[in-house]
Amino acid sequence: MTTGPLPEGMLFIERGWLNANHLVIDAPEGPILIDTGHVQDQQFTLNRLRAAGVAPESLSLIVNTHIHPDHWGGNRRLVELSGAPIACGVRTAEAFARNDLRAMWAEYFGHDLYHDRSQPPLTADRIWQIGEVVQLGRYAFEILAAPGHAPDSIALWHEEHRILVSADALHDGDCGVLHVAIHGREIVSEALETARRFRSLNAAVAVPGHGPLILDVAGAIDRLEQRLLEFQQDPSKLARHLCGRVLMSSILAAQPVSLDDLCRLAADARWFDDYGHLLGSRDGAQLTRLMVNEFMERNLVRVDNGSLIANMSR
Ligand SMILES: [Zn+2]
Repeated sequence: MTTGPLPEGMLFIERGWLNANHLVIDAPEGPILIDTGHVQDQQFTLNRLRAAGVAPESLSLIVNTHIHPDHWGGNRRLVELSGAPIACGVRTAEAFARNDLRAMWAEYFGHDLYHDRSQPPLTADRIWQIGEVVQLGRYAFEILAAPGHAPDSIALWHEEHRILVSADALHDGDCGVLHVAIHGREIVSEALETARRFRSLNAAVAVPGHGPLILDVAGAIDRLEQRLLEFQQDPSKLARHLCGRVLMSSILAAQPVSLDDLCRLAADARWFDDYGHLLGSRDGAQLTRLMVNEFMERNLVRVDNGSLIANMSR
């Protein structure tokens, strides 16, 4: 199996903005799966893997890049089917073990939209240290720390083919949201340092947690760095980025959802309390209506039978 710029035995499966992307790596004992999608879409994840020729029952290892539930929500079902062990970085393993709802941002979305508390994470079977080199099929990967978006996040670096599995530390010109209210403002500098470390690798291709495979890695890092510098200078830009992404994830998780229901969800969620003032209002319903209008103008969301539906894939 191969997809374009990735070498033989690596398969990239792009998902959406509620489910993290997958990277599948062939191994003699069975395929290795990096990141497993959102808990709400476990069945769809199985179907998606099967459609790509990957039997979920045959997995030999499950890897999670970080603690956010859109990256490990499929673990439980996949472990039931395959018995595969779970591997992750040491900080993610600690967060799994203590069912760290704060690190998962569980309370921030309201109504358990983002994380199903009845399904706590399984604990890790293999705990990787930063700097360790792990063999995934025929490819050796170095485990890198990639803090910023998630303090526990790892990236995986394969030197020979210059492949960087960047997860949410690098999307195409962007990264996952920076939750300074939970983790502190220093995570913006940490995200910048991570981006600069990524630049020094001179990767040929990056595998992001969301969005398409990145072929112009240097260009993507330049645009990310620019964005992060703006976040440092102007906290309202960081807040807009975060609130926009979180609201879009809420629509994806709840859709089809009426505007009134979405406003109620937003009022129940924590993120308006922490970031609304940076956007000029602490009124969650008012901000939700404003942002939904903007989504509709940008054709990101449509109204179908009186309910909102996102135009992007989950
Ligand atoms: Zn994330």
